[in-house]
Amino acid sequence: MRLEGSCHCGNVRFRCQAYAPVPFMHCYCSICRKTAGGSGSAVNLGARADTLEIEGREHLGVYQAKIREGDGGCRVSSARRHFCTGCGSALWLFDPEWPELVHPHASAIDTPLPEAPERVHMLLDSKANWVGVPQGVNEVHFAEFPEESLEAWHRRHGMLDET
Ligand SMILES: [Zn+2]
Ligand SMILES: [Zn+2]
Repeated sequence: MRLEGSCHCGNVRFRCQAYAPVPFMHCYCSICRKTAGGSGSAVNLGARADTLEIEGREHLGVYQAKIREGDGGCRVSSARRHFCTGCGSALWLFDPEWPELVHPHASAIDTPLPEAPERVHMLLDSKANWVGVPQGVNEVHFAEFPEESLEAWHRRHGMLDET
């Protein structure tokens, strides 16, 4: 599915071809909620990196989060979170460990997205206390990461776009 996205001020516009366009996966980790999720979570989509076209590249900032380790150490995340330096909108995540993929934030997408038949709520162990998580039969909860990938979830629901 062809997706068009932009930041709020309009300095950055982008397009990409998404194999996983359904906004079903809500991440409540501290990085997502502080950098991209004012309501307490952020939603990532899956797209092919070689299809990403960017206008306004000079307005992009890149953030690599520092992640605290259990042993008290700290490492820098390989994931590069791209945002607009003019307005702060979170745009997409690119990780050179998976160079063929790019993960746009659903919040930056202007194209109407398919509605999710089931929603996944993950990294709930990192959730802020004031954030309510939707409950119900189609709301699936994980304390950490789910085992199923974005791609596998889309395939199971018959919503994978392989064009
Ligand atoms: Zn902007
Ligand atoms: Zn997250």
